[in-house]
Amino acid sequence: MNPSLANFILKLSPKDIFNPKPTMNTAIPLNTGATIPALGLGTWQSAPGEVKKAIIHAIEGGYRHIDCAYCYQNEDEVGEALQDVISRGIVKREDLFITSKLWCTFHTRAEEGLQKSLDLLKTPYVDLYLMHWPVPMNPKGNHPLFPKHADGSRDIDTSITHVDTWKNLEALYQSHPEKVKAIGVANYSVKYLTKLLAHSTITPAANQIENHPLLPQQEIVDFCKAKNIHITAYSPLGSTGSPLFKDAGVVDVAKKHNVGPATVLLSYHLARGSSVLAKSVTPARIDENRKLITLDDGDLEALEAIHKKNGVQRFVYPPFGVDAGFPDKPEGIDLSG
Ligand code: NDP
Repeated sequence: MNPSLANFILKLSPKDIFNPKPTMNTAIPLNTGATIPALGLGTWQSAPGEVKKAIIHAIEGGYRHIDCAYCYQNEDEVGEALQDVISRGIVKREDLFITSKLWCTFHTRAEEGLQKSLDLLKTPYVDLYLMHWPVPMNPKGNHPLFPKHADGSRDIDTSITHVDTWKNLEALYQSHPEKVKAIGVANYSVKYLTKLLAHSTITPAANQIENHPLLPQQEIVDFCKAKNIHITAYSPLGSTGSPLFKDAGVVDVAKKHNVGPATVLLSYHLARGSSVLAKSVTPARIDENRKLITLDDGDLEALEAIHKKNGVQRFVYPPFGVDAGFPDKPEGIDLSG
């Protein structure tokens, strides 16, 4: 045996062997048989002119999972970055995990929505295609992405339901397996997912939800675990400006491990069996966010205490507002009323 490998193995404790340390590319199984890398780079609000550089920097630094969406209006530049790293041999397409999302005004046009993203991303397939929100919006409204009625309320398309949209995604997945490797949902509560599962033939591979110590969403996390639906956590740092960095409970756990708050906030999801998306366009932060550690039960209890003490808080609101029946409540997006 290679002496340095033997030396490395000798230094491992039984705990390390049976509970390997989490890394950014720890492969988490999906119900399709594929795997998803533990840490993804988010691209929401990554401005044109910044996002290409951010993705190139991330992939050169080892990131293999990139979270995109048509609605972010930057997939073209994400695609330029992907083309760049692939053409320079930094990474092969098959070693990347690319997610995109079907926007609300495309619920009746799933194939068109997918093709638009594939063209912009300049990739023949996505690894995961999500229904971005369980709310169809008028495809022929006064705006291609955010249509409104004359009174300013959101132009919701009530002629179909999110279950119909899921059927469209199932058909797309079955007819174009070469273009979409897995389908899933985002922003689903237990109530919505129960409705969807009652009518689905394909179980969503993933549910991407806002998730952090101020919004643990334990109910939907447990429900998805029981149904073999992978959870991906978004806005783990508290979204714009990373407000969770200042939380005293997070700071305490970070001090205990001698790491920064980002490491604690991202590692929290791995401890729960989820993957996590962190957005940054700042090279030093993209690098910092790669560090993940094993949190122990005491750490998880300390993080669990944060929302119990301070109450739950959501940082991201759906694009349709309260007029769609969205109750401003912490337990998940629930629009059925
Ligand atoms: P995050 O919780 O990832 O926070 C992003 C903010 O934190 C930015 O302001 C960023 O600044 C800053 N930041 C990142 N790393 C650090 C660091 N190490 N130190 C200090 N500040 C830092 O928020 P997002 O809401 O963007 O969520 C992540 C991703 O999840 C999104 O980008 C998107 O891909 C996905 N998402 C999905 C949604 C859905 O509906 N499915 C909804 C919302 C998000 P800067 O960039 O300036 O460095």
